[in-house]
Amino acid sequence: MSIRENIDYIKGLKEEAARRSGRLGEDVLLVAVTKLHSAEEINEAIDCGITDIGENKVQEIMDKYDHVKPVRWHLIGHLQTNKVKYIIDKVSMIHSVDSVHLAQEIHKRAEQHGLVMDILIQVNAAQEESKFGIKTEETGLMIEEILKTCPNVRIRGLMCIAPFEENPEDVRIYFRQVKRLYDEYGRLRHPNIDFAYLSMGMSGDFQVAIEEGSNLIRVGTSIFGARDYSKK
Ligand SMILES: *Cc1c(COP(=O)(O)O)cnc(C)c1O
Repeated sequence: MSIRENIDYIKGLKEEAARRSGRLGEDVLLVAVTKLHSAEEINEAIDCGITDIGENKVQEIMDKYDHVKPVRWHLIGHLQTNKVKYIIDKVSMIHSVDSVHLAQEIHKRAEQHGLVMDILIQVNAAQEESKFGIKTEETGLMIEEILKTCPNVRIRGLMCIAPFEENPEDVRIYFRQVKRLYDEYGRLRHPNIDFAYLSMGMSGDFQVAIEEGSNLIRVGTSIFGARDYSKK
């Protein structure tokens, strides 16, 4: 199937899942994950109506940035502190903040550029050793520390990557946990917190994630096909 057909198909499923959770398709943002895909493929997706793209590596953003049509860039992968400076003026949101130290570096670089960076806190709900993100019970303390020390950072919500399971029903419980945190901390009032995004769901599990309250899904394979890791 073509990129256009895939996008239309995903949008249909997104719409149905949103309706099952009492919302509309347009209430859930589709971020097309473009890692290991070329600028040409990304531009084709943009021509099909994609407004937001996600990359998980700083280097790939640097390589493609000048070749891609205007679009909102999301950094969705682990971010090393020493690389924040390369993407601070390129991305519109960083989904993968999992330490106060990283948030402070983002603040510092944002301040230098005279901007306020939107971030999400990455929660590792299943507490998988192999995954980045903080433990659910650390969320409150981290938000508090960031609000205290990072005026050029605005916390827009939470992100989670569920464990890989053949049956997406098996990860519903994690999405539900993170939604509960989202509702809890979304009530905090502070100029630098404004929850609007719950980033959960990938190709294999986005329908379940939406049913549990996700309003931002990150979909790669189902749009662009399998990634060729041998190229890197
Ligand atoms: C690669 C990636 C995705 C997309 O995964 P697919 O299974 O290809 O849809 C989503 N989120 C993150 C953080 C990723 O690295």
